[in-house]
Amino acid sequence: MARTCPSNDDKALLLEQCHHCATHICCKIEPAFLTPQDLERMGLSPQDQEHVNKSAWNGFEFLHLQKRKNGKCVFYDSESKKCSKWNSRPLDCRLFPLDIDFHDGRFYWICYSYCKASVTEYKLQKLEKTLLPEFTPYLAVYALLPMKMFESGSYRILREVQL
Ligand code: SF4
Ligand code: SF4
Repeated sequence: MARTCPSNDDKALLLEQCHHCATHICCKIEPAFLTPQDLERMGLSPQDQEHVNKSAWNGFEFLHLQKRKNGKCVFYDSESKKCSKWNSRPLDCRLFPLDIDFHDGRFYWICYSYCKASVTEYKLQKLEKTLLPEFTPYLAVYALLPMKMFESGSYRILREVQL
C-alpha cells in the first residue's frame, strides 16, 4: 500500500492544534487504533507484541498500540511527558481531540471536551482532504468501537463527516 504521510504543511497544521497540555489525556485513554500506514510510518510490525496488540469487536479484528500497566500508551515517555513517536504517531492520535462516531447510518465528527486544542471548520475540511482518505477503509470498524469517553458523554457532535 502506498505511503501517505501528510505534507509538512499539514503536519504543521496538525501540530498546531495540540499545545502539549499537562494532562496528555490523549495518551492515557483508549489505545491508539492502527492502520497499515501507521505501522509502516512507525516502523512497526503486526507481530511486534511489545508495541502492537490485536483485538476484536463485533466480529472485526483490528490492531492498536499496546498500553503499559499504568494505562499509558507504550510510546508515552513519562519523564519528558511527551510522545516518543510524535512525528510518526498514528492517525488516531493526530485526530485527537476529534473522533468519529457512527449513528443512524452516518459518520459524525465529535470533539472531546477533555482536550482544549482548537478545532475549526477549516481544520475539519483540511483533515477530510488530507488524512481521512487513509482512514476511510477502516472507518466502519473505527467509528463503531466502544469508547470510554463516549460513555462519559464528555464530547460534542460537530457535523457529519464529508467523505
Ligand atoms: S492532544 Fe490535547 S490532550 Fe493531547 S497533549 Fe495535546 S492538548 Fe493535551
Ligand atoms: S503514539 Fe504518542 S500521541 Fe499516540 S497515544 Fe501513544 S504516546 Fe500518545
